[in-house]
Amino acid sequence: MEIGYKVRDPNGPQRVGFSPLSFTKIRGRRVSSYTAYLLPLLNESSPRANLRVYKYSLVSKVILQDKKAVGVWYKRHGIPRVAFASKEVILSAGTFVSPIILINSGIGPADQVAAVGAKLVKELPVGRSLQDHPTFAVTPVLVSKPEYTWNLENNITFEGIKEFKEKGTGPVTASVQGAEAYFTSLRSLFSLESIQSPFDYYKWPDLQILYSAYGGDPKATDISCTISNVRPVSKGVLTVNTSATSMGDNFLPILKYNYFSQEREFQTAFEGIYFCLRILETSIAFRTMGPPFTLQPYRPCLIYIFRSLEYWKCYIRYNTRSGYHSVGTCRMGSGPEDPKAVVDSKLRVIGIDNLRVIDASIMPNVPNANTLAPTMMIAEKGADEILKAYNKLKTSNMKSSVEYKQFGEQNK
Ligand SMILES: Cc1cc2nc3c(=O)[nH]c(=O)nc-3n(C[C@H](O)[C@H](O)[C@H](O)COP(=O)(O)OP(=O)(O)OC[C@H]3O[C@@H](n4cnc5c(N)ncnc54)[C@H](O)[C@@H]3O)c2cc1C
Repeated sequence: MEIGYKVRDPNGPQRVGFSPLSFTKIRGRRVSSYTAYLLPLLNESSPRANLRVYKYSLVSKVILQDKKAVGVWYKRHGIPRVAFASKEVILSAGTFVSPIILINSGIGPADQVAAVGAKLVKELPVGRSLQDHPTFAVTPVLVSKPEYTWNLENNITFEGIKEFKEKGTGPVTASVQGAEAYFTSLRSLFSLESIQSPFDYYKWPDLQILYSAYGGDPKATDISCTISNVRPVSKGVLTVNTSATSMGDNFLPILKYNYFSQEREFQTAFEGIYFCLRILETSIAFRTMGPPFTLQPYRPCLIYIFRSLEYWKCYIRYNTRSGYHSVGTCRMGSGPEDPKAVVDSKLRVIGIDNLRVIDASIMPNVPNANTLAPTMMIAEKGADEILKAYNKLKTSNMKSSVEYKQFGEQNK
């Protein structure tokens, strides 16, 4: 606010500004989709006849008959089993495993299907649109007032654990990351694409900056900011690692993200760094955390002038990691004629009957914010599509775009 940005609703429409973080939490604990959606149904006094959860079951393959899914192969406690579907098979094993299960079943790029020793049933670009938010932290930023920072040694105490157990509050429940900023780089705003585009897309935020009371050193009094390019252009690929298996005997994936494969992605990230440092080093809010407020140089990059563009490029190359928002390996497209599509807009696997993929893997591009809420919306929409297909949809859970717009107007 001090530098002219507004505090925004992080779940509202596309906006530049700051916001507190939203969490799926109850009484200081993270709530998973299992806890939120399935557990209440499993705890109902009269259990539902159409819901059974088989924990510890790892699916390896879809059983196909004449390009129609009829069930799955799985292992439970090491024992091979099959489950047959009366209507459809729905894969929701996530961005890394749904594509592996498809490839094991003969659905995917011909070379990948051959590599796992399966017979090709349907050639589709499974694994081909892998995307994520390349992310790196600007750290360590040392501060002299330890009470403003969070570290394991100071904050995980007996009293803290007691408070968490009894009240669900206190430092044990802290997420460490406190606030986030979304903003649009000048590179995007004034790019040729932006000027020529009739859409607002290039005005949407392309940088997410998270401010944390923790820099990474469990003993230090340091803080950090984490920068994510949330509209990356690079795409990667997932292939099967045929020399390594997981517990369920599925092959593990090899993930090639191609982060920063385009020069303009560095330009965007540089703007993120300047934004981050401007707030940390010049705002009154952060200066109250106590000088000396020093960004420590990163040794491997000191062959370049500290804080020069070359230095930051080197820093980004060394420190970029996954934003944990991988998507795209079973990409949704417009239909069978779309060469990039694995599933259609109803999330049905193209060319295979009675098989859908409903998880983050279907996202055609990574959204410009975190992926949990969008994945839940995909699941809600997928559930609606299934009910519609069997004429069981009474009222949709989804808000229409008109309702959404009204919501947006009210929450400006
Ligand atoms: C460390 C980390 C931190 C994250 N933090 C955030 C955050 O703060 N905010 C946010 O919005 N997003 C966050 N994300 C991203 C978010 O968790 C994912 O986008 C989201 O969970 C994707 O949902 P999904 O259903 O596609 O996959 P998943 O949540 O991965 O679900 C897949 C499920 O399939 C199961 N499975 C896998 N293989 C098999 C098999 N062979 N047989 C049977 N079952 C199988 C898995 O056990 C899992 O339960 C984070 C991700 C990670 C990894």
